[in-house]
Amino acid sequence: MKAEIIAVGTELLLGQIVNTNAQYLSQELAALGIDVYFQTVVGDNMNRLAEAVRTASGRADVLIFTGGIGPTQDDLTKEVLAEVLGRTLYIDSEAMANVDRFFQGRGVPMTENNRRQALAIEGGTPLPNETGLAVGNALFVDGKFYVVLPGPPKEMKPMFEHQAKPWILEHVLTGEMPIYSRMLKFAGIGESALETKLLDLIEAQSDPTVAPYAKEGEVTIRVSTKAASELDAAVKLDAMEREIAARLPEYLYANVDEPIEKTILDLMASRGLTLSAAESCTGGLLMEMFTALPGSSAVFAGGIVCYSNEMKEKLLNVPHDLLEGDGAPGAVSAETAKVLAEQVRLTVGTDIGLSITGVAGPAHSERKPVGLVYIAISRRGSDTAVFELNLKGNRETIRMRAAKTLLYRLWRALQGG
Ligand code: ATP
Ligand code: MG
Repeated sequence: MKAEIIAVGTELLLGQIVNTNAQYLSQELAALGIDVYFQTVVGDNMNRLAEAVRTASGRADVLIFTGGIGPTQDDLTKEVLAEVLGRTLYIDSEAMANVDRFFQGRGVPMTENNRRQALAIEGGTPLPNETGLAVGNALFVDGKFYVVLPGPPKEMKPMFEHQAKPWILEHVLTGEMPIYSRMLKFAGIGESALETKLLDLIEAQSDPTVAPYAKEGEVTIRVSTKAASELDAAVKLDAMEREIAARLPEYLYANVDEPIEKTILDLMASRGLTLSAAESCTGGLLMEMFTALPGSSAVFAGGIVCYSNEMKEKLLNVPHDLLEGDGAPGAVSAETAKVLAEQVRLTVGTDIGLSITGVAGPAHSERKPVGLVYIAISRRGSDTAVFELNLKGNRETIRMRAAKTLLYRLWRALQGG
């Protein structure tokens, strides 16, 4: 089964936006076992879009479109596709009701061009839009499958996941056994080191297949298999997961697609433990990661951003002598990290207190190198653990890696490692 992704939009050609939809769709189609042979980008132009449709239908079995289904004049995807396929367009009543409701809810009159968002191609299946107004479409014409999705990723992704994917499984992959996948999530290890440990499994392309999966800077392995049922799949996926876990026991933190802070929150919640944090160079980044998760309040009580030395003294009682003066360890030191973690734990009154202090750059401070970071974990009734990190990268990367490393260390601490 060969697929082609056609991203429609002049902004893409002008380099004003990045074609992240093609990346997402390529990954999703690969996971379904559908080979993407071409990714096309075409502007909002009738003739060139028609040409792209004809070319793609000459060389692919499945054509996936994204973009150009909104209300404005330059949104032409459905019109052009209908024209090339010799089909008419009609107003899908459900989608039209959705558009009407939207404008009534806002109390503003609907302009006529918004009716275009409810257009569907004759003989196809309208794909409802959960997060927007423009309806998608899926259809089968002359042996080829066509799927039309919106441009905005926040509309395109849910429509793909909830509408297009089930349609593809039912109509395109009929008779083929469905693919089941499991995401294995790793922390504390880089992508290349991880790949090296699993190289034989990745290269074997056996069943289940093992593939690294790039996703927002996280290290993830996707294990996939074709199977007649979920139960059959689970047996195969479990066996492969055990094999991988045995090779990398100290890095594999979850077998579902979630960030490590979620794993930590669940683990701590199940044990009734609470958490606080003191952040210097990360300025609240770590606390943002926790509080972004619903339900975090059961575990995460609060924390303090103590960026200046003065605030470290004033809010968390770090002794002045530790921070300043000849021969003082300074703000970026193991000693200060330790006091910050212990003091925030006592001040907020939690079971565990975390801290981060370091030099994020680009300028060095206290004559210490950029990338030098100290992180600490203070637990009620235990010795405080302090780690020295020497991180590489720019300011943003250093701050992110400092927070992520602390999360990894906390997860390990909770494992008793
Ligand atoms: P709208 O209803 O917003 O007009 P649409 O389906 O007509 O949606 P476009 O007009 O092509 O889609 O694009 C709308 C916005 O969606 C773009 O400005 C851009 O932010 C985003 N977008 C479109 N195509 C892509 C793409 N291939 N990758 C990432 N983002 C995209
Ligand atoms: Mg548009």
